[in-house]
Formats: sequence, structure tokens, C-alpha cells
Amino acid sequence: MGFKPDKAKEIASHITVDPARGSGHAWGSQMKGDKNHLRTRVGKNGMDYKGYNIAVHELGHNVEQTISLYMVDNYLMAGVPNTAFTEAFAFTFQKHDLDLLGIKDNDPNKEYLATLDNFWMAYEIMGVSLVDMKVWTWMYAHPDATPAQLKETVISMAKEVWNKYYADVLGVKDCPILAIYSHMIDSPLYLPNYPVGHLIDFQLAQWFKGKNFADEAIRIYSAGKLIPQEWMKHAVGSEISIKPMIEATDAAIKVVK
Ligand SMILES: [Zn+2]
Repeated sequence: MGFKPDKAKEIASHITVDPARGSGHAWGSQMKGDKNHLRTRVGKNGMDYKGYNIAVHELGHNVEQTISLYMVDNYLMAGVPNTAFTEAFAFTFQKHDLDLLGIKDNDPNKEYLATLDNFWMAYEIMGVSLVDMKVWTWMYAHPDATPAQLKETVISMAKEVWNKYYADVLGVKDCPILAIYSHMIDSPLYLPNYPVGHLIDFQLAQWFKGKNFADEAIRIYSAGKLIPQEWMKHAVGSEISIKPMIEATDAAIKVVK
């Protein structure tokens, strides 16, 4: 990823790898001197592509966890503004998994396809995020609602969001699929972190272009737990915005048919 040997060694010395029982996970250490744990699945016959792909994503989290614990001004600033910021860093690593194996993707449309992929993922997860926000607004207005009423509301709100933003594009009306993320009830307002993570990921990717990734990663992530827009201004000189993604998507659909 472009880290100088001494920095790479230093960061790696804070990371240890364990076999995962589930899919994969990055467990950050809370104190200096402890290890960040990278957990991924290694099957009986060794690591397969899926295990490797997840491992690279988790390694991204571990590198971020190391930078934002050891390289911040003060321990109390350790970390990132919220989950979206660490996911953005993990996505950046994950995208380079084949590069790291020396496999080059020479598709001339590579960048356009990556833009469309990012746009599509954001579009998809924004739907469930809107349902999440609507449902929590409704729950605060109806503190005595029963589980049956909640279920009915989630499904009808999912259809409402679908009909407004997806039905015309996908040609199906009243689809309830955006209600599928049941964990939005036990992890309140977590889902919006994903689309915001894709926006941050996109803005960072634009910023990293033509620069040394490792040096920039250290500069950006050593800012620590600032408030989100301050962090972003320090990182790329502008606030979190959907504009760069929309503009790049416009350009991409002119090329990719
Ligand atoms: Zn992640």
C-alpha cells in the first residue's frame, strides 16, 4: 500500500491475526501496548479468496486503528469520528486486494466501473437508511406501540421509500425489501453510516489519486476523533458531500453503456 518499510514494520507490530469463527472482524485495542486483532476465516485447505478479501478489509481497519491510537496528538483524541470513517478506510484496502497479490486489472473502464459500483452501493443502502430514520422518528412519536404495530409500520415505510426512489427505476411497485435489516431496531441509526461511508470513501479515493496513499493515510487518520465535517475538511479540504459522486457517475454513464 506504499508504507515505507519502517512504518510498515511499526504498524504490523501492533497487529496480530486470529482465525475467525464467523466471517471476519477487526478488534481494535483500547490501550497502547495491546494488539489490534485481525480475524478472518482460514479453511482446512488454507485461505480462499473470500477469506483473503475479508482479511484485507479487516487489515484496513487494523491499520486505521493503529494510526488513530499511536499517531494522534493525545490519547483522548484516539479513534475516528464515527464508524463511517473506518469503513471508508477498510473499503480502500479491500479494493486493492488483487493489486497486493500482483494481479493487475487493465480494464480501461476500471475507474468508471468503480464509480458506478460505489454509486449503486450507496443508492441501495440509502434506501434502508431512510427506512431506519423514518422508523425511529415514528417510534419516538409512538412510545407505546406494540410489536405488531411496529412491524406493520416498518413494512409500509419500506414500501413508501421504495415507491418514491426505486419503483420507477426498477419497474416494480410496493416492494417491501428495504425492511430487511432487522438489526436497525437493536442498533439504532447505524445503517446511515454505510452510505455516508461510501461518500467518504469516494471523496478520499479522489484525494488519494496521484498522491502517496500511505503518507496521506497517516496524515489524515492521525487527526483522531474530530467532529465529522472538521475531520473531512482536514482530510480533503471540503466537507462530506454527495456532489463528487454524482458528477463522476454522470461522467461514467456517458462512457459505460
Ligand atoms: Zn468493515
